[in-house]
Amino acid sequence: MTDPSYIASELGWLYPDAHCTLDFANPFQCLVAVSLSAQTTDKKVNEVTPALFAAFPDPESLSQASVEEVGGYIRSLGLWKNKAKNLVALGKELSERFDGQVPATEKELTSLPGVGIKTASVVLAECFQVPAFPVDTHVGRVSKRLYLASLSDTPEQVMVKLKKKFPIESWIALHHRFIAFGRDICHAQNPGCNRCPFTSFCRYLKSAR
Ligand code: SF4
Repeated sequence: MTDPSYIASELGWLYPDAHCTLDFANPFQCLVAVSLSAQTTDKKVNEVTPALFAAFPDPESLSQASVEEVGGYIRSLGLWKNKAKNLVALGKELSERFDGQVPATEKELTSLPGVGIKTASVVLAECFQVPAFPVDTHVGRVSKRLYLASLSDTPEQVMVKLKKKFPIESWIALHHRFIAFGRDICHAQNPGCNRCPFTSFCRYLKSAR
């Protein structure tokens, strides 16, 4: 039987200091870095962002760049053409609609080009300390394996369920811990179940038996 408080407590023991692994120095850089992280790793994003941020330090400079120029900095990332297009559009929207500032509400953030609920949630949590539970591939996989969500749930549905099961003050730290657990032990392929504290109620193990 899944016990959310047991899961939270074990993940707290395993990953007390789990934190965001993207590099950024302000909300604008955070928004850009998270937007770039779709379909790639944080490590790869961190390799390209120093030069990207130096070339385009604010929304204004990004808004005046061409898609090709921006693309030149992020070509090593998956979906780079689409991401470059979105970044230029993001620079324009931030400059024109938000006076060059990153907004601090989910509604405004998700109105920006290429910004979905996951990206908005990360920015809210990391930059504005607004309680949020971003659901990336790791959080989604772990939640489904631990019966915190159904197999058919979308990331947004998983997020709604997680928010109901865990206290609001734990959301930000816990989402980092889910990610750390997914990266470290509960891999998509060949998870390290021999090191896992959740073997007694895991959907993955149950289906493998
Ligand atoms: S038992 Fe294995 S698959 Fe299940 S949650 Fe633990 S690591 Fe993941």
